[in-house]
Amino acid sequence: MSQTSTLPVLIVGAGPVGLLCALELARRGVPVLVIEAEPGTTLDLRAGTFHPPTIEMLQPDGVADAMLEVGIQVERWQSRDREHGLIVEWDLSALQNDTPYPFRLHLEQHRLTPILLEKLAAYPHAEVRFSHEFIGLTQHPDEVTVQARHPQGDTMLRASWVIGADGGKSPVRKAAQIEFDGYTWPERYSVVSTTFDFEPLGYADNAYVSDPEQWIAFFRMPDKGPPGLWRMTLPVGQELSDDEVLAAPFAQRAINRAIGAPDTDHYPIVHQSVYRVHQRVANQFRVGRVLLAGDSAHVNNPLGGFGLNSGIHDAVNLGDKLARVFQGDANADLLDLYERQRRTVAMEYVQNISIKNKENLEEKDLTKRLARFDELRTVAQDPEKTRAYLLMSSMINSIKRANAIT
Ligand SMILES: Cc1cc2nc3c(=O)[nH]c(=O)nc-3n(C[C@H](O)[C@H](O)[C@H](O)COP(=O)(O)OP(=O)(O)OC[C@H]3O[C@@H](n4cnc5c(N)ncnc54)[C@H](O)[C@@H]3O)c2cc1C
Repeated sequence: MSQTSTLPVLIVGAGPVGLLCALELARRGVPVLVIEAEPGTTLDLRAGTFHPPTIEMLQPDGVADAMLEVGIQVERWQSRDREHGLIVEWDLSALQNDTPYPFRLHLEQHRLTPILLEKLAAYPHAEVRFSHEFIGLTQHPDEVTVQARHPQGDTMLRASWVIGADGGKSPVRKAAQIEFDGYTWPERYSVVSTTFDFEPLGYADNAYVSDPEQWIAFFRMPDKGPPGLWRMTLPVGQELSDDEVLAAPFAQRAINRAIGAPDTDHYPIVHQSVYRVHQRVANQFRVGRVLLAGDSAHVNNPLGGFGLNSGIHDAVNLGDKLARVFQGDANADLLDLYERQRRTVAMEYVQNISIKNKENLEEKDLTKRLARFDELRTVAQDPEKTRAYLLMSSMINSIKRANAIT
């Protein structure tokens, strides 16, 4: 098989998935051009938890080491209930023979993108153009032409392949006419960061607190350095406007409710944001010379921390296969295997488990809630069951499942 093109692979979106796709290709010698609508990398407060297989995948180019330098290693995380307190504390050292990184790594998404950008700068055949918005594309037998808009006007770019890593609204996915089946949850999710310290109250650096009225997920994030910031994610009902959710009293009430304190308003709030949340998977991850990765291909609620992790798994899988195709070492059919592997786990694993996690946290039926607590305690008392539970929740099983698909 011979090399089919010298045109670069064009990646739309300089979010974490787009930049990682670029890095995976560039370090294999493939020329890449990334276009990003924004003038620079964005201050994104969404993702913050990285699972063990993700850290393993980020070892090349020293990305994992750079993350480990600034991130918080979370060896234990908790299943809690607002009324019943601590249910189980999960110790990830149960995975010490399964991964060199038996912990979750907490690091803000917006601290990962500059690391990726810096690593990419080492490759002369990699280019990133900010303030370049993807407008449309036309597929030809051997290349794709892409229309982009930048402050000086419109431009036409030629590419051998296009990767849409342009987020949930993905203009690339729409241009390729790929359906995005699924649904949007009626509630939004609020993210609140505070310097108030939950550790003295018994919270591990990561804790999921069930509550039929308002569950909360807690994450201690590194921020600018110790002691870091506590980030809370919680659902918001339709009765509140975005402005109300972004106002200080909302955050104060959430903390009061979480810790069972009387109404006070003295918690220092550092950030507040609000998001719509969806469960959707693209019908195809490849149409001709156009491929999708990350949120452009699949979106899910954040319970379990699977969204960006699975986007990183996409980027690593796709980077390897597309480089082989680009360099003439494999037939383009190999890219259909990317779709089979990654789409299957997006459906079977990420969608199913994130939905289940949400249902468990918001369960209103007390009998069912108590039965679930018993189930978790039974698992926690048995080392083999604990390991099996953690292999699943740490996404190690999802990687094994994808790799088993041929
Ligand atoms: C509240 C919340 C918490 C979350 N927590 C976690 C977590 O702990 N762990 C986890 O794994 N995941 C988490 N996620 C999910 C995670 O944030 C996303 O999966 C992740 O951001 C996807 O990365 P991406 O690079 O695919 O897309 P994005 O980060 O959305 O990046 C897309 C990029 O494309 C650019 N773009 C868009 N349109 C165009 C265009 N026309 N032209 C050029 N550029 C364009 C955008 O500006 C952006 O820079 C969370 C999500 C939410 C809502």
